[in-house]
Amino acid sequence: MVLGSANADLVVEVARRPLGGETVLGSDTRVLPGGKGANTAVAAGRLGAAVSFLGAVGRDGYGDLLLESLRAAGVSVDRVRRVERPTGLAYIAVTPDGENSIVVSPGANAALTPSDVDLGDAAVLVASLEVPLGVVEHAVAEASRTGVRVVLNLSPVAILSPATVAALDPVVVNEHEAAALGDALLAARSTVITLGARGALVTTPNGTTEVPAPHVTPVDTTGAGDAFTGALAAALAAGDDLVTAAQHAVQVAAFSVTRPGAQPSYPTLADLPSKA
Ligand code: ATP
Repeated sequence: MVLGSANADLVVEVARRPLGGETVLGSDTRVLPGGKGANTAVAAGRLGAAVSFLGAVGRDGYGDLLLESLRAAGVSVDRVRRVERPTGLAYIAVTPDGENSIVVSPGANAALTPSDVDLGDAAVLVASLEVPLGVVEHAVAEASRTGVRVVLNLSPVAILSPATVAALDPVVVNEHEAAALGDALLAARSTVITLGARGALVTTPNGTTEVPAPHVTPVDTTGAGDAFTGALAAALAAGDDLVTAAQHAVQVAAFSVTRPGAQPSYPTLADLPSKA
């Protein structure tokens, strides 16, 4: 079960980003399915996991696009609520140096409430923080109560209750988020810190293990972290231990950086050398 955001990414290339009060002309707009939650669900679904997405989209064409992309990856959208707010949008301006400036308009994602949470018969709950914190904390509490394993991608960074942190197995963050969170991560059951081209660092009660990334030539790293989290959760749901799951996740995320876009770059099992 993946709980999180679904956003349409509106991507425009610009020579430089505008100053206050200024207008610049950009390229044609590309509209791509995105949002951390939907990306994670698509990554896991494309790998063959049985995935259900818990989220909200509007009754507009962007909502249709996101549902279509989830369905195409084999993800159940029975728990996606269509609400009377616009679908979440990410306005992304990309400059020639490859840097992104992003404004996210949460829209429908902000309409999710704790009463939307229904974990069904999930083996693993995966959540991220582009939806209201109260909904995530409620879902984590439900999962703890019913013995469902919780994987939380703590992005964007948020301050969690001690009970929520204690349930995370693992909390997944990138290097910048890990630095911002510091000791707050120590109370989680396990931790995975992603290190870009260097792979990931997995900490369990048994110690810390470095999981190197395969060497690839990156084309576009957008959504690599979501690919990693989706693959990690899919492997955990299939019964892998955390280090084995992370070894699989670095293969999946490395494949994703060799192709453009987020969701379109995610592999199926057949695309991978082997299920590492
Ligand atoms: P993003 O914001 O781009 O989605 P992130 O900042 O959340 O990513 P990263 O640590 O940059 O997370 O990357 C996540 C994972 O993607 C890494 O652990 C690694 O497995 C893979 N990855 C990212 N960049 C590369 C790269 N250049 N070569 C190989 N693997 C990579």
